[in-house]
Amino acid sequence: MAATKQFEAESKRLLDIMINSIYSQKEIFLRELISNASDAIDKMYYKALTDDSITFNQDDFYIKVSADKDNRILKIEDTGVGMTEEELEQNLGTIAQSGSLAFKNENEIEDGHDIIGQFGVGFYSAFMVADTVTVYTKSADSGQAFKWQSNGAEGYTIEPAEKETHGTQILIQVKESSEEENYDDYLEENRLQSIIKKYSDYIRYPIKMDVTEQ
Ligand code: ADP
Ligand code: MG
Repeated sequence: MAATKQFEAESKRLLDIMINSIYSQKEIFLRELISNASDAIDKMYYKALTDDSITFNQDDFYIKVSADKDNRILKIEDTGVGMTEEELEQNLGTIAQSGSLAFKNENEIEDGHDIIGQFGVGFYSAFMVADTVTVYTKSADSGQAFKWQSNGAEGYTIEPAEKETHGTQILIQVKESSEEENYDDYLEENRLQSIIKKYSDYIRYPIKMDVTEQ
């Protein structure tokens, strides 16, 4: 079992604010995770422009949203650029750290280009609907995959993991519904589809959907 690392003090406070007040609608967490997936695929596209060893085959790039109702797990996966251990630490271990903003600056991608991320907080909106968030990721630049896991303000763990292809899978252990809040919705195909339609219609990559019920 990997050691639990603490978020920085400011990050803890920010995470609390995030989860409780920044977003008026919990459903937007899906928009945030899909925009991150799209950014990760865009980064593959930009890498391919400057690196001859990478070919960008449109068909290999997609985002997949799947729900396992039985186990209350919602999964958002992409075939994008993935993250190294250092990137995981920097981008998901520090709130308000945007790897996408850094990427735009490093590659001198002008404003108005497609990469959406900039504030470094969207990912944490997942905790509005999740008890635990688990990330499996493998960078296009390195062979080893990693697992990042957190149940919110307590901190997070990072450990080596198995993953065949580059890209990222975000697994959300969806909260149990209560009288005040219905979280079951986020495991329902129709509901997920309408959230995607509402906020992520402009995403350029295909968004596949798979809901299983036992
Ligand atoms: P932002 O998108 O504004 O940068 P987020 O909190 O949504 O902020 O994400 C923080 C950072 O984590 C991103 O900038 C990116 O570097 C990294 N990240 C998040 N999701 C993914 C993903 N699916 N694939 C690769 N990197 C990701
Ligand atoms: Mg984002």
